[in-house]
Amino acid sequence: MNNQQPLNNLLPDIRKKALKRVKKRPPQELAASWSGDDLLYSGPGRTIFLVLPTAGCAWALAGSGGCSMCSYIADSPLEDVSSDELVEIFKEQFQRQIQKQEISGPTAIKIFVSGSFLNEEEIPETARQEIFKIINQYEDVEEVVVESRPEYVNEEILRDCCQLIPGKIFEVAMGLESASDDIRLQRINKGFTREDFEKAMTVIKSLKSDFKMEGKAYLLVKPILTSESEAIEDAVKSAQYAAEIGVGRVSFCPSTIHKGTLMEILWRRGSYQPPWIWSTLEIIRRVRSSVQIPVIMDTAGFGTRRGPYNCKKCNSKLKDAIIQSNINQTIPEDFECECKDKWVADVKYSNVNRSTTNLLKNH
Ligand code: SF4
Ligand SMILES: [Zn+2]
Repeated sequence: MNNQQPLNNLLPDIRKKALKRVKKRPPQELAASWSGDDLLYSGPGRTIFLVLPTAGCAWALAGSGGCSMCSYIADSPLEDVSSDELVEIFKEQFQRQIQKQEISGPTAIKIFVSGSFLNEEEIPETARQEIFKIINQYEDVEEVVVESRPEYVNEEILRDCCQLIPGKIFEVAMGLESASDDIRLQRINKGFTREDFEKAMTVIKSLKSDFKMEGKAYLLVKPILTSESEAIEDAVKSAQYAAEIGVGRVSFCPSTIHKGTLMEILWRRGSYQPPWIWSTLEIIRRVRSSVQIPVIMDTAGFGTRRGPYNCKKCNSKLKDAIIQSNINQTIPEDFECECKDKWVADVKYSNVNRSTTNLLKNH
């Protein structure tokens, strides 16, 4: 693992300031859940998403200051949440979703903890086990997906999880963000290398003979200090790399501007823009024709002021086309809009147009 702080201690300082502004909220208030159509390993189905409040991402709370685009820590109670409390919150949110719609047919459960589910400092072992025992009672739940940094992936903890949900797919999603160590370390401050990711994937793959174990990579589209064309190239290469290393699927997260991050500071100064929706479409086209595994493009922030943006005329049409293509894994049809020329120019010239913002000046 690499603990360097390439952004010159900028991130710890930004994080400290942002955390001072956070209004503390009780864990119950920070929990959330929803459900929706999704693509499962077996095909289209329903996913129940659950957000559990934990003490917060260990990487963001450490001296590193965390990742340059992420403010999840601001949604954490910033105090220990007991194991019992976590299980209660899980039950409450899970029941809420089941009451809205019974579990029937192919279902996945995705648990977000705004950090690492496999870090026992964030989710204690007893809470993890209780949650998995509850999920195991539902036969139609085919997949359980959690998120973790690679350093918490080890054989013992994975075996423990898999044994509690026999017959179900257990997937660990890791924020690889980019296949390039340089981009991941210097621009995102992720603090781990390809080697760390590959080690975690080796453990995951070694369990495939005993369990339905899968690994997934989250990839960030357009980190800070990255031009539009470099963002497209990096996203495509990163998906190809992740597939070669053996992940079961890839999920792209195009940047949206989170509050209290270095990304926000650069955006406010006009030195950063989230990617065009056209770029995400280009990435889907190129990745779908070169990578065999399922690839999802997250469209959550599309068309908003802080998210990927084209123009008012085509934002929602393209968003719908991408959502559809996530479910059926097809390449969206060609589409025209007058804003496309601007995107083409941006892709062509943005590399010569690099920002000159002085990062160290009075942020
Ligand atoms: S992206 Fe993940 S590892 Fe980075 S600060 Fe956010 S929650 Fe932590
Ligand atoms: Zn348009």
